[in-house]
Amino acid sequence: TVSSKTHVSFKQYGKEYKVPTGLFINNQFVPSLSGKKFETTNPCNGEKLVEVYEADKNDVNLAVEAAKNAFVKWKKVTSYERSRLLNKLADLVERDSLTIDIPAVIKCLRYYAGFADKVFGKVVDMQGDFLTYTKHEPIGVCGLIIPWNFPLLMLTWKLGPAIACGNVCVLKTSEKTPLSALKFAELIVEADFPAGVFNILSGFGPVAGEAISGHMDIRKVAFTGSAAVGRKIMTSAAASNLKKVSLELGGKSPNIVFKDANLDDAVAAASIGIFLNSGQCCCAGSRVFVQEEIYDEFCKKFAQHTKEKKTLGEIHDKKATNGPLIDEIQFQKVQQYLDIGKKEGATVLIGGSKSDLHNDGYFVQPTLFADVTDNMTIAKEEIFGPVACIFKFKTVEEVIERANNTNFGLAAAVHTRDINLAFTMANELQAGTVWTKIFVTNLSSKTEDIDLIRFFQGYGKVTDANVMMEDGKSKNCGFVHFE
Ligand code: NAD
Repeated sequence: TVSSKTHVSFKQYGKEYKVPTGLFINNQFVPSLSGKKFETTNPCNGEKLVEVYEADKNDVNLAVEAAKNAFVKWKKVTSYERSRLLNKLADLVERDSLTIDIPAVIKCLRYYAGFADKVFGKVVDMQGDFLTYTKHEPIGVCGLIIPWNFPLLMLTWKLGPAIACGNVCVLKTSEKTPLSALKFAELIVEADFPAGVFNILSGFGPVAGEAISGHMDIRKVAFTGSAAVGRKIMTSAAASNLKKVSLELGGKSPNIVFKDANLDDAVAAASIGIFLNSGQCCCAGSRVFVQEEIYDEFCKKFAQHTKEKKTLGEIHDKKATNGPLIDEIQFQKVQQYLDIGKKEGATVLIGGSKSDLHNDGYFVQPTLFADVTDNMTIAKEEIFGPVACIFKFKTVEEVIERANNTNFGLAAAVHTRDINLAFTMANELQAGTVWTKIFVTNLSSKTEDIDLIRFFQGYGKVTDANVMMEDGKSKNCGFVHFE
């Protein structure tokens, strides 16, 4: 239902937008029980966009009740039907938007639509005339808590598998980015999902988030966000009903450039690695290790590339490659790290402060720190901004040890033309994902690079994927899977 209480129009850059602002419970947009609201702002200029309703514990209870009621019928719905609904949702997203991370949202929904009827159990050998089998069943209400850096992609990463497997959900968006999920909720109604299967709440972590992770009727909590909050979620899950927990946390991922790498190519990849989404990526390549023979040249080229190719600007600015940070808090945090880096003695190759051109927005200059040593704060902590730390290394053994010497283990990248070295690194790096790039010699014997190949360690078997290239196009690439 569309009502003036739960939907608001606003203008930005001369265009009018109408957005839902209510909590999405039982396929309806409703005000919060307390009537409380909070502001959401445009990070390009700090202007208020709209106010949305804020969920607290009572609203979480209401959404969980809606989900529990829906589960009674939903758990009997066939996998074919779940798959059809997810595909319908993907169609609607495809109809409405196709830019930035939305293609990945559509693919994710279709992937899990295909997964719905492939959730298999096992037959277990019991040494005799027995038939013993396992069967996967939905567990019921799942609490989903997501960050702000790719609001819709994070939402579908959670929604896709939960719905495909027959669960019902209560999702809390980040307080920094509530709007796209509420717009998405309209498509859930249009796709004809039964009421209560998927509920979306806007709200803050310590209130609505804590109410989810500590809820006695939520059977599983899936969280993506910082390690610090991940700890709190696990504690609260343990202290309540020992619900299942899955955590996807932060990173300080190494991007390793060996002396035989194609230098221009490695520079371009390092640039995507740290500047995509202005560095606000969990798997940002924020620790760039460069072999000493090519260190100076790499640094020179990386600084030049950044100067020529990275332009800060607002969303409608066609020349802009990089936008602002998400809000004032993140803006201050990144600036503090810039100050710490300078105090600790790292060399600023380029950038190093906020942008003077964009006074009202949260813009930070793309920054490269060289001569970084492993014990510096900027080398150890996740900055979550457009700030790369460049380190010098000598040997393979040394770089493996230093790359692994971190509290994180999300991703890693390797640049070399030596395929044996690439495989060695994929095996030795303690990261969930290791990317490398392979080179082939074509008939004219000109060496050219082909797609990035991702070496996946510890993830499910995957056979195809897309990788975003510097020019914004995506290319198909193969996956190699390690168990
Ligand atoms: P965050 O941990 O501050 O917040 C994430 C979510 O948790 C938000 O919805 C927030 O409201 C909620 N939250 C905060 N306190 C809570 C509490 N006490 N109980 C329950 N929920 C609470 O993270 P963020 O700033 O939104 O996102 C950035 C972080 O997310 C970075 O560390 C980044 O690396 C990580 N991230 C990881 C992945 C991944 O797949 N591994 C993907 C994207 C982002």
